[in-house]
Amino acid sequence: MIPASFDYEAAESVDHAIELLGSGREAKLLAGGHSLLPLMRLRLARPELLVDIGRLSDLSYVREDGDAVAIGALTRYHDLENDELLRTECPVLADAVGGIGDPQVRHRGTIGGSVAHCDPASDAPTILLALDAELVARGPSGERRLPIAESFGGFLTTALDPAEVLTEIRVPKGGTGTYMKSTRRSQDWATVAVAAVRANGDVRVALTNMGPIALRAAGVEEALASGADPAAAAERAAEGTSPPSDHNGSSEYREHLARVLTRRALEEALA
Ligand code: FAD
Repeated sequence: MIPASFDYEAAESVDHAIELLGSGREAKLLAGGHSLLPLMRLRLARPELLVDIGRLSDLSYVREDGDAVAIGALTRYHDLENDELLRTECPVLADAVGGIGDPQVRHRGTIGGSVAHCDPASDAPTILLALDAELVARGPSGERRLPIAESFGGFLTTALDPAEVLTEIRVPKGGTGTYMKSTRRSQDWATVAVAAVRANGDVRVALTNMGPIALRAAGVEEALASGADPAAAAERAAEGTSPPSDHNGSSEYREHLARVLTRRALEEALA
């Protein structure tokens, strides 16, 4: 399908992007375009103005910052997957983004775009949730930080203000573990996926596609904290979830997958 007509502006800086977002027209940021453009082609999104931030190279970086790794929102999956600092300080994230889509998707898609899009089948929000990542957003009234868990508003919805630009994602150093996903075909979106992460002495588990947003598997974490082994803890993986039923599987099948993948992910992460 052909998108509805729209105006286009290329932002020259983050401040310019914020100014354009506040210009009175219904505006959307364009980063890698791999989620927004398909929605526009289906006419599920009809912005009047596209503000292209895709060329803001100062939003593409991976840096050490105290006990965190700071990642520019426009950093592409391919660059994250191959970044030496991220591979050393947070290998679980570097590995997980290396399994997103196909090479073309990984060369265009940005980590910030994935977080801002908030698709429950996306991989980056889940792994960042397990890592307790922090987001940095800038808007007309300045900069603010918020935990990723507070940024999820609902299906394809976040707590970011429409006039804000997500500029940075901060993950604690030392995040190890695994991200396991089940797909019907290689390179498909996850039917269900599980992140099992060890960071700061904690084990955290988060789930993809088990509800309208990425979810922490609170029952599993509670069981592990009380001394349960991975197999027993994983039995609680579907607690508090509301997985969809679709052509990839029924909600019951997804609950089963969540338990199986959680056990396997925990066994690998804790080995
Ligand atoms: P865009 O499409 O440009 O933007 C998405 C939304 O985020 C828009 O609403 C936009 O306004 C907003 N936005 C973007 N950047 C910012 C910012 N800095 N601040 C505030 N708002 C912002 N994803 C997976 O996780 N796993 C997969 O297996 C997978 N497979 C895919 C397969 C295909 C064929 C395609 C086309 C996509 C796939 N994706 C997958 C999605 C891909 O990861 C997207 O690139 C990503 O979800 C969005 O990033 P983007 O940079 O393309 O964002």
